[in-house]
Amino acid sequence: KIGDHVRVRYAPSPTGSLHLGGLRTALYNYLFARKEGGTFILRIEDTDRTRFVEGSAKNLENCLEWAGIPYDEGPARPRIEFAPYVQSERLPLYKQHADELVKKGSAYYCFCTSERLEVLKANTMGKQSVSIYDRNCLRLSKEEIEKRLANGMSHTIRLKIPHTTPFTKFNDIVKGSVQFANSMIDDQILLKSDGFPTYHLASVVDDHHMKITHIIRGEEWISSTPKHVILYEAFGWTPPTFAHVPLLLNKDKSKLSKRQGDVSVDAYINKGYLPEALVNFVAFLGWAPSETTKEVFTLKELINSFSLEGINKSGSVVDLDKLDWLNVQH
Ligand code: GLU
Repeated sequence: KIGDHVRVRYAPSPTGSLHLGGLRTALYNYLFARKEGGTFILRIEDTDRTRFVEGSAKNLENCLEWAGIPYDEGPARPRIEFAPYVQSERLPLYKQHADELVKKGSAYYCFCTSERLEVLKANTMGKQSVSIYDRNCLRLSKEEIEKRLANGMSHTIRLKIPHTTPFTKFNDIVKGSVQFANSMIDDQILLKSDGFPTYHLASVVDDHHMKITHIIRGEEWISSTPKHVILYEAFGWTPPTFAHVPLLLNKDKSKLSKRQGDVSVDAYINKGYLPEALVNFVAFLGWAPSETTKEVFTLKELINSFSLEGINKSGSVVDLDKLDWLNVQH
């Protein structure tokens, strides 16, 4: 047993319907929480208004309910203090934290126009060793910044990636020791000009305030993790434990797509598949119990045998024929 009370979260962005990879992430978080006697939280990360799809948060919740993996805290459950389960409802919290970093000197105002940033991006393309933003606004005097703010000039807040330390390192339960060169990390935007936080700021602030102990998420997020570790340091907070789950792949090892069949959970609900079959199917995409001869598990058996150490290190090929087979077994 892990010492502290385990708190994990599934933090989808409501940008479409739940797919198999999302269901797997939610399931691993749920299994781990139940195994450790912890708490499983659902958090809706809806701060990117350009990708927001109406009704998709409800779809995610319905799919989780259908699959039989209920959350303990989240949108429709009692909320605890500081638990911003729907991020768009908690904008002042993120702004307050971005301002705090500016005061500390770990972040700065950026007044650059999108046109200027486009030109910069075009010029740095291909030069892998430099980060994209040239820190133009870091050179502004205090008076100049105040003048611009007083004039209501549009701005963002950027994280100042420390260049005094060459690398940002962290341990990942699945990947082992991971490090990224700070010189390769752009000064991330934390607060956008529309007042919404970016994913990086919102998720770190929430994970901290929601006392998340383990972050279990898809491998596609691993390049965000050094940015988050830098943010934790800037706030003076201790980062949680990370476990990045390998990608789901088509048979030709490309990233999972609709090419070989349906990848949305909705499609299987509509076709009358049994939730137990789909849950079994995604559970074994990238994880295996330490010893078993069984191929079909009850949810209780999945919980009992689950461990983060059992997660595969490399990508998992999705074979939808196996799902059909499981559906017949149940
Ligand atoms: N909102 C991100 C997503 O859509 C969450 C990534 C994370 O778990 O930190 O998957």
